[in-house]
Parts: sequence; structure tokens; C-alpha cells
Amino acid sequence: MQDLGGKPVIVRTYEAAKATELFDEVYVVTDSEIIFQEIETYGGKAIMSIKEHECGSDRIAEAVEDMDVDIVVNVQGDEPFTSREGLEKVLSVFKGPDAAKIDLASLMTEIYDWKEISDPNCVKVIVDKDNFAQYFSRSPIPYPRDKNVAVQYYKHKGIYAFRKQAILDFYRLPMRSLEAAEKIECIRYLEYGRNIKMAISNTKGIEIDTPEDLVRANKLLKEEDKTEVNKKYRNFPMVPKVVFGQGCFDQLSSIIEPERKDKTPFIFLVDDVFKNNHQLPTRINLRFNDKLIFVSADEEPKTQQVDTIVKDIRTEFTNNPSGIIGIGGGTILDLAKAVSIMITNIGSAADYQGWDLVKNKAIYHVGIPTISGTGAEVSRTTVLTGPERKLGINSDFTPFDQVVLDPDLTMGIPKNQWFYTGMDCFIHCVESLNGTFINAFSQSYGEKAYDLCNEIFLSENLSEEESRAKLIMASWHGGMSIAYSQVGVAHAMSYGLSYVLGTKHGIGNCIVFDHLEEFYPKDVALFKKMVKKYNVEIPKNLCKNLTEEQLNTMIDISLSMTPLWENALGEKWEEIMTREKLKELYLKM
Ligand code: NAD
Ligand code: ZN
Repeated sequence: MQDLGGKPVIVRTYEAAKATELFDEVYVVTDSEIIFQEIETYGGKAIMSIKEHECGSDRIAEAVEDMDVDIVVNVQGDEPFTSREGLEKVLSVFKGPDAAKIDLASLMTEIYDWKEISDPNCVKVIVDKDNFAQYFSRSPIPYPRDKNVAVQYYKHKGIYAFRKQAILDFYRLPMRSLEAAEKIECIRYLEYGRNIKMAISNTKGIEIDTPEDLVRANKLLKEEDKTEVNKKYRNFPMVPKVVFGQGCFDQLSSIIEPERKDKTPFIFLVDDVFKNNHQLPTRINLRFNDKLIFVSADEEPKTQQVDTIVKDIRTEFTNNPSGIIGIGGGTILDLAKAVSIMITNIGSAADYQGWDLVKNKAIYHVGIPTISGTGAEVSRTTVLTGPERKLGINSDFTPFDQVVLDPDLTMGIPKNQWFYTGMDCFIHCVESLNGTFINAFSQSYGEKAYDLCNEIFLSENLSEEESRAKLIMASWHGGMSIAYSQVGVAHAMSYGLSYVLGTKHGIGNCIVFDHLEEFYPKDVALFKKMVKKYNVEIPKNLCKNLTEEQLNTMIDISLSMTPLWENALGEKWEEIMTREKLKELYLKM
């Protein structure tokens, strides 16, 4: 009866089960007058059970005894995030080749975190080669005596599908000691030699076993609600001020001066490639206590790195700085956006990875790209690698207050790097234009950027100066295009590569895109042409020697990018991009 986003947990669970549209009828069976009333009030169907029962299955058995049903599915009341996918999987085993042997079916999900594996609230299951359950336990099973043996742990999800006869049998069989000791009802079946077939589902969800779970669930729901709303019509913030032109960088100090507050400093985060071989630092024109911090772009930005920079700024200065100025590629621009947000928001940057989680407005921040393609200068996100995932802080407060587009700053970039980052723009356009989220707004920007990329990377008659100016604008338009739609398959997969192998964004996209003929045939062909013309190396055989565990993590990270997959393959993307399919693709790379 606890509140979850304005409705009791049990009502949420009931609605979730109904929303799957897999069942002829959905009932809540309960011995609680309060729950019964609540469900009726919400217009649902509830059955009051008349007897005392030891467990849910007993209660359901009583309820269905006189009903004309073939298969009964027991969804526990604490599973408000029950999804169609999971239930469909559990039902589908009754159509599989060993259907006749199956007395009941249930779900399990892969787990990796030892904290979860050893948590008694999390019921583990071990299975045989055909995924029939061997045993369920609150202890970690198997016990990992040999840490070098790769073993997959599975968590049991409290969803059961019974043949009617099986659930009636269950009801009549007295409880035995293993079930009584573990307090796990399906053990009773094993104790009587019945066959439980386990299906695997890895969709994210939270069972509500503890008050902390409820807090997490409320948070998840909020995120989901917002994504839903955002997916519909975003009220989209744009960069309010932009200056463009060769040498416009020299106007920087006059542009930012009006934003200076009580002599508090501007913090310049600058790519350390400019440390030695450029006059750029002297052109920055530091004043008062302004501070210049060189940052390496060797690795992509991390939440922890953001936290450290913010802590250092707080330690050195009593008041918040006047602003953060990022000068560099996507890495530095993302870092600058994140730092400006974290100056005014408590906790770690990792707490804000996701959609619209930022509470307070960021301080004034300026973006100055020195390499073009990512669109980071214009986008509403800052992509960070956190302890658990690689995900952007996507919020209304993320975009820069000012952008300086000076094509001359992009001079002297090594050819390969120019290509990889430029291809990020090309791939953004392909994914946006071919995605299901496309609309006229995104299309108008995407098409322009796409044409510019073709001109820059395929035509023969552009001067370098023209190319630089055009790529700076292509990046801008590409960024605008994805900001109002989404990226797709290449990005979802490249995030997996980057998380496990540290592959950088631009090159990672190229590695992946090279193998995506199936999804973007015309554009992969064009891409190959560009690769040839520029004579760049696309690394190969990265995944060949990965351990099973690394591959699994890669797949997990990639599959967790739901909006990207949904954009690329539509609502039923999970049917197309299965774990096996994704593995097969990765193994080509
Ligand atoms: P980068 O910032 O990682 O820089 C790549 C390399 O180019 C670095 O070695 C850097 O030192 C060097 N470099 C930069 N400017 C140079 C110059 N003028 N001359 C010589 N060398 C120069 O590369 P990137 O491809 O621009 O950015 C990748 C990052 O952008 C990733 O972290 C990715 O997640 C992020 N990204 C963000 C968004 C967004 O919307 N926020 C979109 C796409 C990518
Ligand atoms: Zn990208």
C-alpha cells in the first residue's frame, strides 16, 4: 500500500500486468480488506481469498480452482515494473520444444554485483543446461570457491506461469523443510520433483522489498515519466549566444567581461594539447584571479574527474566562480558543461546522469570547440563515464550560455583525429535521419549537416580553410539534429566498446559503423568511400579476445541505451536486437 508515484505499489503492479495485454483477465488476490478496496476503487478486479495461506501460489490456487483457465501467471504484488517482455518470455516456454515436460515456468535475470549476489533478499537460482531450475536459495549459489571459474549468477524474479493443474497440485502438497527454511515457495516443486523452466529476462526493474527499494523505485519512475514526456514534445533550450568567424576567439575577454561577478574568477578548462605548441594560452588574457587548468583529453570525461575539479575549485575559492570556459574537443566541452552544473548542485556528477535530474541552474559557461564533429558545443547533454554507466547529464541547464566558433582554432589537427571526430557528425546525421524519432525540426538540421559532411569528406575542390569552416557548421547542425531526436545503433554499440575497452567515442563509432550495412546500407557504403579517400585506419579485431564476462558487460551497457535502440529500430527493438545478435555483431569488430 506504500505510495509509488501517486499510486499504491499494488495498483501499479496491477496496471503494469494489464498493460501488457497478454492476459484475458488480471486479478489481485488478497486477504486484505484494504487492498481489496483499493483495487476496486481504481476500477480493477480483486478476489478476496477466504482461507489462511502460507504463500501466494496457494492463494492463487484457491482463486482459480473453479475458473476455466489453462495457464495462470503469478505476478508478485511488489513488482510494479513488470514488463511485457518478461511475461512474454515466461509464457513462450509453453510453446517451446520441451513444453510437455514443464510444470511451471519462471524468470531469472543475470546479476554481476557481489553485493546483490550475497544479499538474502535476492533469491538466486542455478539451472541445468536447458535452463531447468536446480535449486533456489538466498545464499550465493554456487559458492565461488575457485574465483577463476567464470560462472553466471542469476537472480530469480517473482513471476511464475503455471499450468492450472500444476498450481492445484501445489496447493495440495504439504510444505517441506527446504521451502520452510529458505522461505522460497517454488522450492516446494523441486522437493516434489517437478520441473521448473527458467526464462531469462534482463529488463531493468525494481522489486520493492525494503524502504530503500521504494525510494529507488520512486526515482526510477520519475525518470521514466520525464523521458515519456520528453519523447513527446521537448521544450528545447538552445545556446542563446554564438559568435562565428576566423579569429573571433580574440573577442572572448570582451564577451565574458560583463558576466564577471565581484571579482570572482573565470575558470578556463583547456585541452592540454595547447600547453606547449600554441600561442592560445596567451590569447586567453587571464585577469584578476582567473584560473587556467589544462586538462588531458586522452581519456573521455568521467564523473569522478568532474567531482575532483569541482572540489578543487571549491577549496581554492570561497565564492562560486563567475563562469567556466571550456576550450577543446568534445571531451573538454563536456567536462566544462558538467563542472558548471556541479558547482551549484550537491553530491556527485554520477547522481545526475540521466534525463532532467539536475535541480539548480548551472553557472555561466562558455564552449569553444577546437575540433569539430561531436556537436557537444550545441547539445543538451554532457556524456560522462560514471561508476555504473556511460550516460549524459541531459538537462535544460546543460547547454552553453555562449559559444565561440572560430574555425582557425581547428587548424593543425592530426588527419586521423580530424576524420574520426568529423565522422561522429556524419554518423549522428545518419542515425538521426534514419531514426523513428525523426521530425521536420531534426531533419532540417540533419540534412544540412549530412550534405556538408559529404562535401567535406568526398569532394575534391574544397580548400582546407573552407573545410574547417564548413565542418564547424556541420557539427553545429548535427548537434541540433540529434538534440531533438536521438542517435542510433552505432552509438549504442560504441558506448559498450568504450565502457569495456576505453575506446574513444569518434574512433569507436567508426569501428562500429563500418559493420552496420544491415542497418544503414547506403551510408555505410559512403563511409567506406570516405575512409578510402582519407586513407585512415579503422582498427579491427578488438573483440576477438574478450572474455565472456567482458562481452556480457559490453552487451549490457549497450542494451541499456533504450532511447537509442528505440530510435533506431522502433518500439519492438528488443525483438530485433537480442543479446545473441549483438554478440554476433561485436565479434565482427
Ligand atoms: P576529444 O575532445 O577527445 O579530442 C580528441 C583529440 O584531439 C585529443 O587528443 C585532443 O587533445 C585533440 N585536439 C583537440 N583539438 C585539437 C586541435 N585544435 N589541434 C590538435 N589536436 C586537438 O575529441 P572529440 O571527438 O571532439 O570528443 C569526443 C568526446 O565528445 C567524447 O567524450 C564523447 O563522449 C563526447 N561527445 C559529446 C557529445 C555531446 O552531445 N555532448 C556528442 C558526441 C560526443
Ligand atoms: Zn557521437
